[in-house]
Amino acid sequence: MLKLDFHPTGKHFLQIPGPSPVPDRILRAMSLPTIDHRGPEFGVLGTKVLTGMQAIFKTRHPVIIYPASGTGAWEAAMCNTLSPGDAVLMYETGHFAALWVKLAKRLGLVPEVVGWSGADEFMPHAPGWGRGVQADLIEQRLRKDTEHRLKAVCVVHNETSTGVTSDIAAVRKAIDAARHPALLMVDTISGIASVDYRHDEWGIDVGIGSSQKGLMLPPGISFNAISPRAIEAMKTARLPRSFWSWDEMLEFNKDGYFPYTPSTNVLYGLAEAIDMLQAEGLDKVFARHERWGAGVRAAVAAWGLPMQCVEPARASPVLTGVVTPVGVDADAVRRLIYERFDLSLGTGLGKLKGRMFRIGHLGDSNDLALLATVAGCEMGFKLSGVKLAASGILAAMEYFAAHPAPSVLQKAA
Ligand SMILES: *Cc1c(COP(=O)(O)O)cnc(C)c1O
Repeated sequence: MLKLDFHPTGKHFLQIPGPSPVPDRILRAMSLPTIDHRGPEFGVLGTKVLTGMQAIFKTRHPVIIYPASGTGAWEAAMCNTLSPGDAVLMYETGHFAALWVKLAKRLGLVPEVVGWSGADEFMPHAPGWGRGVQADLIEQRLRKDTEHRLKAVCVVHNETSTGVTSDIAAVRKAIDAARHPALLMVDTISGIASVDYRHDEWGIDVGIGSSQKGLMLPPGISFNAISPRAIEAMKTARLPRSFWSWDEMLEFNKDGYFPYTPSTNVLYGLAEAIDMLQAEGLDKVFARHERWGAGVRAAVAAWGLPMQCVEPARASPVLTGVVTPVGVDADAVRRLIYERFDLSLGTGLGKLKGRMFRIGHLGDSNDLALLATVAGCEMGFKLSGVKLAASGILAAMEYFAAHPAPSVLQKAA
């Protein structure tokens, strides 16, 4: 049996790309007493988080908050806008995109999967899992769909299984260039509040987010940011829905309330997270993640190991996928690092199992936490008998030292 009376000293290094570490300030906010969700105080909290999330998604239109993980918000996006048998164009960037396809099939939709079709010498069994969305493939397919049978285009903004960020503005341009009416649905579950995302400007119809990644919250709530076109589509969409229905939510949300019991204490945390993100400024939040990504990639490059992302310009600011040498089980290395150094790294998902692991660098972190993470990996590799070209710790130290972040004092000014 698992012994729960043991706890290592110091803080655990939770370096998986979600859930990310929850700052003490948010944990404290969440420890407030649970209040009556129909009482007068709740409306103030509800209104604050609903309007705050519009700013985070950069939209003037509604954001729905569900007491569910990201998967629930995926389902909500589809069942509110589509009908049984509808064809949808889904781009496969990796494991999360593939899981979304599976969900669409189970709902009774007919996904058509597009993706990178060239030979992949790097990972022949997972072609395209390491590249971003190629918007031209979407444009070509939509141009051929003269009868407009495809009702939605679905893409993942930040593919958390590979560490690749896609250009969503280019996808919007592709849909417009083909003069196609399909809705644009974007999974930004690991992108929101870490990677530049502009709901209105990029003409996104449904943006899907979740609490446990860039928002620095525990798992438990997720989001649909919806456009007026998505709300129009809802009026004729025939997939069954009850818990996920936007119409009742929108009605109650007008005064900051919910049709059923919301996750009150996670919403306290969300209010705090919104304050923290707005005080820093979203542009600075994005730049902070870019800088961390570059520092960690400097370490991996020094090790001489390949990264799962094969398009350097599309490397994710949120996580880095590290490919282990052929014959070295990435999960065995990961387990050893966990047991010896109390550091959690993300496992290789789906087709990437055993071939790579993922280093999360998002949310409530800092340079020294990332250096410790790099050090943990480096020790783990050495103990696993993996020969590294050079020290990643030194490379990351050099990167961070040469690229100063705005100092705490500057931030306060
Ligand atoms: C984490 C994640 C999901 C799944 O969300 P859950 O909260 O685990 O249901 C989906 N898509 C992406 C891109 C993710 O990072």
